[in-house]
Amino acid sequence: MLIRSLKNKKVIVFDLDGTVVKLTADWRLLKDILIDQFREYYGDDCNVKRISSCLNEVVQRGDERILQNFFDIIQEFELKSMNNTHPIEETVTFINNKELFGVKKEAKLAILSLNTRITIIKALELANITNKIDYIVGREDVRKWKPAPDGLFKIQKYFNVKKKEMIFFGDLENDLVTGKNADIESYYIDDLIKLVKKKLDETI
Ligand SMILES: [Mg+2]
Repeated sequence: MLIRSLKNKKVIVFDLDGTVVKLTADWRLLKDILIDQFREYYGDDCNVKRISSCLNEVVQRGDERILQNFFDIIQEFELKSMNNTHPIEETVTFINNKELFGVKKEAKLAILSLNTRITIIKALELANITNKIDYIVGREDVRKWKPAPDGLFKIQKYFNVKKKEMIFFGDLENDLVTGKNADIESYYIDDLIKLVKKKLDETI
C-alpha cells in the first residue's frame, strides 16, 4: 500500500509535467521541429515515435554538439510556453507537507524529467517549491531517457541509497515502465493525489 511504503523511503522522485506542474507546450509541434532539424543535419528521417527516440539516434551517431543544439531547441520551445504553467495543487501540498503523509523529515525529494533543466527550475519556482527539491535530473543530464532506468540510477547514486529506499511518481505509463526497468517502486501520481485529497478531507 502506498501510505505504508512512503514511511520507509529515503528518496522520493517525481516526474515534472503532469505530475508536479502542467506544462502547456505543443509537444507535437516540438517533435515536428526536431524532425525537420534532424533531416537538415543528416538528410534522413529520425524515429518519430517520441522526441527521445529521435534524440537516441543523435546519441548513437556520437554527435554531442548536435545533441546540444537539440537541447537548446527544446529549451527555447519549453520556455516560450512557460507562462501558462499550472502547479498540480495536490502534489505541491504533498511536497510541502510530506511528514503529514508519514514521510520521514530527512527524506530527500528529486525530479526526473524529460524537460530541460531550466524549464524544471522555472516550473519549481512557479510552484514555489524550489527549496524543497534536493536534486534534479533533466533532459541534458542523461543520454538514455525514460523508460531507460538511467535517470533513476543517477538519482540513486547521487543519494547513495538502496533501490527499495526510493519511490517514483509519474503521470504516464512510460514513467511506470521506467520504475520497472530500474526495479524501483513506482506509482501513478493519481494514487498520491487521491491520498492527499483523502488527508485534506480528514483534516477539514
Ligand atoms: Mg509527465
